[in-house]
Amino acid sequence: MSSVDSNCNCPNCHSDECHQYFDLRSDEFLRSCPDCGYCYHHYRLVDEKTGNWLLKDNSLPATVDNIVYHIKEIKKPFGVCRMMEKGSWCESERTFSTKKQYDKFLESIRNVDPNAYVFITVSRVVRGKKILIELVNNKN
Ligand SMILES: [Zn+2]
Repeated sequence: MSSVDSNCNCPNCHSDECHQYFDLRSDEFLRSCPDCGYCYHHYRLVDEKTGNWLLKDNSLPATVDNIVYHIKEIKKPFGVCRMMEKGSWCESERTFSTKKQYDKFLESIRNVDPNAYVFITVSRVVRGKKILIELVNNKN
């Protein structure tokens, strides 16, 4: 087994539904919360010329301290959208960093066929309370 999936406590809203994924081989780590949209992702960058890990200092060995990581964290998200298309077996999740991104998303789904989706929801945590907005619900 080269990867580990588990649930954890969200560092933003403290939900126990926050999930994390760690790939032991590539050192990729992903943590995302379906309740508030908190997101953290890091992975090693690859040198496109050599195919090896990109190093800060090429004269030193490829240790954790010398490898260049891509790190992205959304600490205080506006919210998160979860959706699943009919016929699909997995759902997708998208964090909105700002209200502007959320408004753009609402605009973009205005003309989608609601019958093409199993569900589309937006979750937010406002002053410690979880808010769930069901935009499409065809679960039955
Ligand atoms: Zn959270």
